[in-house]
Amino acid sequence: MGKVEKSIENLQKCICMKCPTYRSAYEKKSMPDDMTKMIKRDFSNMDDPEGLFCGSGKSRFIDEKKGCICDSCPVYKENGLTKGYYCFEGVEE
Ligand code: SF4
Ligand code: SF4
Repeated sequence: MGKVEKSIENLQKCICMKCPTYRSAYEKKSMPDDMTKMIKRDFSNMDDPEGLFCGSGKSRFIDEKKGCICDSCPVYKENGLTKGYYCFEGVEE
């Protein structure tokens, strides 16, 4: 069980789609639908969002580390997170 609740509120605060790792994967994989939705802030596919990785687990698309900006995110601060790269490592216990 991770520390972060998988909620719309948290998803709205997530800044993953602004980070270089996310952007690089998005460009490389020719815009997978899930990532396009996140970048457009369309949260209709909440079951398995391609974002809020600290709450929902690893990414299905991201496969190269290019920098992580989690420590600037409100969700990171509010939940006392300490790591980063949740898109690779999965949720923080
Ligand atoms: S801490 Fe990182 S993974 Fe979690 S919501 Fe913020 S930017 Fe997204
Ligand atoms: S978890 Fe970190 S590295 Fe991964 S997409 Fe979010 S901000 Fe970028």
